[in-house]
Amino acid sequence: MKLGDIIFDRALLIKSTVYGDRHRILSFLTADHGRVDLIAYGALGSKKRFGGTLDFLNLLQIQFQVSRGDLNRLLQCDLAIEEISPSLLKIKRDYVRTVLVLSWFKLIAKMIPRGGGQDLDLFPLLQQSLKAIENSKPLYIHLVFLKNLLSRLGYLLDLSKCLVCHSQNNPPFYFKAEGGGLHCNQCFQVQSPYRLSSCVPNENWTSFDEQKIESIALNELEYILLHSYQYFLGIQFECFDKLVA
Ligand SMILES: [Zn+2]
Repeated sequence: MKLGDIIFDRALLIKSTVYGDRHRILSFLTADHGRVDLIAYGALGSKKRFGGTLDFLNLLQIQFQVSRGDLNRLLQCDLAIEEISPSLLKIKRDYVRTVLVLSWFKLIAKMIPRGGGQDLDLFPLLQQSLKAIENSKPLYIHLVFLKNLLSRLGYLLDLSKCLVCHSQNNPPFYFKAEGGGLHCNQCFQVQSPYRLSSCVPNENWTSFDEQKIESIALNELEYILLHSYQYFLGIQFECFDKLVA
């Protein structure tokens, strides 16, 4: 990108900050440019300035100009109509799903620096997760999202078998963050509080298929994932029950 270039991209707004009296600094997760932070002049003064589209949970087509200084400038912003759009509309009408999705945006904004995330495939992950959460159990999709985001950030947890003997059939399993995986009932040395009644095949994390997880205790998985975010990234965030309370 060079000075003066005008760039088009599809985007989801993940963070919005007031700047001066009338402007906003907007962070987008885009399809092709990772996280892009833009200044939107006049966005605060007039709702019509960007067609009233500058809202979370809108899939947007943005146009921005590579500008001098720190921040590129948002020129135009329109609603993009794609396969995912009806899901977004449905999510907006549902309190629990809206809260969860906004927590994902917040997490991404926290983890991905301005200009970063280009190679992490976060946009497809968000699209998949948004589509899945429309009709599936929200907590389950939330956990699949968290697990996949952690993988994309470089922390691959293996919850599919015992780290030591590779057994899948010695429950309960105990999660060890430093090993990034589980110890079975035969191999564990210290009984960690992060217990899993049954292991989870790795392919379950890519399918977003709710059926695959019927037998799994979601609260155990959630406990393990929140602990991992804390352990690997120093991020502490609310459990599902508190988030949606
Ligand atoms: Zn074992």
